[in-house]
Amino acid sequence: EVLQIKTQTKDYPLYVGSNISINLPEFIKGKVTKILIITDENVSNYYLKHIEEILKEHFPVTSFIIPSGEKAKSIDVFYKCHTHALQEKLDRSSLVIALGGGVVGDLAGFVAATYMRGVPFIQMPTTLLAHDSAVGGKVAINHELGKNMIGVFNQPESVVYDISLLKTLPESEMRSGFAEVIKHALIKDVELYNWLKKNVHSMADVQGEHLQHMIISGIKVKADVVYEDENETGIRAYLNFGHTLGHAIEAELGYGQISHGDAVAIGMLFAIKVSENHYGIELNHDSFLAWFEQYGFPISIPSGLSATSLLERMKRDKKSKEDKIRMVLLREIGTVELVQVNEEMIRSMLGEVCND
Ligand code: NAD
Ligand code: ZN
Repeated sequence: EVLQIKTQTKDYPLYVGSNISINLPEFIKGKVTKILIITDENVSNYYLKHIEEILKEHFPVTSFIIPSGEKAKSIDVFYKCHTHALQEKLDRSSLVIALGGGVVGDLAGFVAATYMRGVPFIQMPTTLLAHDSAVGGKVAINHELGKNMIGVFNQPESVVYDISLLKTLPESEMRSGFAEVIKHALIKDVELYNWLKKNVHSMADVQGEHLQHMIISGIKVKADVVYEDENETGIRAYLNFGHTLGHAIEAELGYGQISHGDAVAIGMLFAIKVSENHYGIELNHDSFLAWFEQYGFPISIPSGLSATSLLERMKRDKKSKEDKIRMVLLREIGTVELVQVNEEMIRSMLGEVCND
């Protein structure tokens, strides 16, 4: 299947399906002098040979393997990618392929944006979370003082999403990406929400045709929201549903101590509770708890975290203005708003759910 992704600067195709890597050379348009595959250790062990062989019949290929995990989004690894590209004599007609999850996509996209002032790149996502990260054009590396602080907007030439590559993804990573699928359903896609409730009862159901359906649906929501909000002033913030508390939990525990999706799941449950309070409506929070539990998401705030420190983090969130907490709240399933919430209400609600 092919989706057409529209952006301000260009439109590009997103190919999705099982085993579509085999057709990779057909997806590469224009004259390409050399291809640099950037991938990480885990992904390269499973798939690098396979992808290299497919490409080698048509193009000169070189590969650069980065360490697995968030630590690879560093200035040091970024520089090493450039060194490799220079040694391998890539020129402005060369192509970068990001083969991996969000870490590889963010790093390789930034390498492509900066190598000789920019060369084209293709995203080949290998995680479920990457249905989120591979669309939207944000690429970045981390600074010691903040995540994703060094980066640019850079749209790929295309995205090639071979679902069969996700077979080796550990369940915890699958669940992490699945949280973003749920998020996309709750903020803008009632149909997807109903479909998930009906068809996906546990993480074991997140595979095959089901997996493909949720990737396509999630990408459509993400691409729509990003397209509608060219200047990142308004509705792009909706994508932050569950992330105000989610990010606070990740930061307080230390990055890597909890998966992004697990933190976002806790954040979404909290946002639903706040929504009930703020709007004075009944969203049936308990049924969301039970639903999230079915997939193995943690449903309470990890012990050791205090309401005060989480609140401080939430106030420093990028959405906040003048020290006021702003959260994306659920009006009804499929409809969210960015709302300035009452700090005392949040403090007392956090107090109720924190164990310390
Ligand atoms: P990741 O790329 O680190 O992948 C998670 C783990 O799974 C890694 O250990 C990786 O080696 C392994 N892995 C990947 N594919 C595999 C496969 N097919 N089989 C077996 N193992 C595999 O992390 P992620 O969760 O994909 O992405 C997280 C990153 O995405 C973060 O750095 C985050 O900042 C970024 N992100 C970016 C955006 C954006 O808009 N650019 C949006 C959301 C997240
Ligand atoms: Zn997220």
